[in-house]
Amino acid sequence: MPRLVPPVCSHFPNGMPADHACDAKLVLIGEAAGRREDELGIPFCGSSGALLERWWEPLGLHRSDFAIYNTFPYRPPANRIQAIPREQLEFWAARLREQLAALADPWLIVPTGNVALRALFPGEDMHISDWRGSILGYTDARGRVLKVIPTIHPAATFRQAILTKFCLADWKRISEDRHFKELRIPEISVTTEPTDNEFGRFMQGMSEEYEAWADRCLKWPAMAVDIENDKKTGELLCVGFSYDPSHALVLPLSRRALFTSGTRDRMLSYARSLCSDPIPKVLQNGQHDQYILRANSVPLANYQWDLMEMDHALDPNDGGDTQAGSEGASDAETIRISMRSLAVLASLYTRFPYYKKGGRRAVTEFRWENLYNYNGMDCCVTRTIFPVLLNRLIERGLVLPSDCYSPSAQSADSLPAWASSLTDPLLRRLRWR
Ligand code: URA
Repeated sequence: MPRLVPPVCSHFPNGMPADHACDAKLVLIGEAAGRREDELGIPFCGSSGALLERWWEPLGLHRSDFAIYNTFPYRPPANRIQAIPREQLEFWAARLREQLAALADPWLIVPTGNVALRALFPGEDMHISDWRGSILGYTDARGRVLKVIPTIHPAATFRQAILTKFCLADWKRISEDRHFKELRIPEISVTTEPTDNEFGRFMQGMSEEYEAWADRCLKWPAMAVDIENDKKTGELLCVGFSYDPSHALVLPLSRRALFTSGTRDRMLSYARSLCSDPIPKVLQNGQHDQYILRANSVPLANYQWDLMEMDHALDPNDGGDTQAGSEGASDAETIRISMRSLAVLASLYTRFPYYKKGGRRAVTEFRWENLYNYNGMDCCVTRTIFPVLLNRLIERGLVLPSDCYSPSAQSADSLPAWASSLTDPLLRRLRWR
């Protein structure tokens, strides 16, 4: 262990004690003591703690529900954790992990901010801006897999008020998730480069969903569509589809990946049938995808819903990045979140943990298989978010329950085709065989 240099201004030479009962089900982890915490020896007893208690009250959470720790149990010089040498932080992070392993049966651990998050997952270079709101498994020193939901440190909202939206969403999830121990991460399957049979089954499944919708008079069938293209050359690499949130079909299209032109032609013809099908489409920032698809002679019919726009209608924030208005905060302290990216929407409206950049197994080397899985995941996530946003739009009166399509699509040429196809499922099935 490295020798520890006692911090200059601490009232607690051995470090501030944690505040906990060892049978607590909930664990809160902060960064370091502030001035007040250092005076009283109680974690989160100052302004950050008061803010947390304000957020907790409507959720029925109380300070006494938690075992509370700080990663670094002293007050750092000038309150700047950046001033603490890395080895010292690593020493205290290891101490924290030991303390967690001594807890009887914790159900849910909440690290607040980068320092606390990285103390649990050393060496994984995780950023709170990516991982907040995710449901993660942490394997403790006793081999127990414990549920973790990281969130932004409350003090960050003093500098960037816009982050409050994310904190409130995370704490709502935490208050719901404290009632069960399991992670409950959605499982998905992705079929890539389908055979004729697999493609037929996908079409058949879509047809059955249609019939079920028509029978129950539910009016919101939708197919999530997403493409991946080469950021440098613009080449269309693959297109994915999902009408059922637990499954996606991915069609590889790059000539570099598909060595036989027969296979590529087959994938392209599948892509054309699915994209031209009248089933309403839902995309994320889909105009981009629509342009690229059209340039590849794959026109997209009935692109009716866009998550980005649906979310924007629900939350009139400008939709930019969270650093807006954070002038005065240092670069290291500023939290950057692209507010309407699919990753952020997924963290707010689904239980899928952050999966961009390869998730916790950060991807450095390019592999086609990873790209296709990622594309399939994007489709399932899009299809999962769609009904959540739609129901909220209906609740707010922004979409009428009597509508069977997006208000923005009222003039879409292809709309009547979809509407009439609903009344004739048999015809649809025949066409897909
Ligand atoms: N911030 C923290 O991270 N911990 C505290 O105890 C107080 C403020």
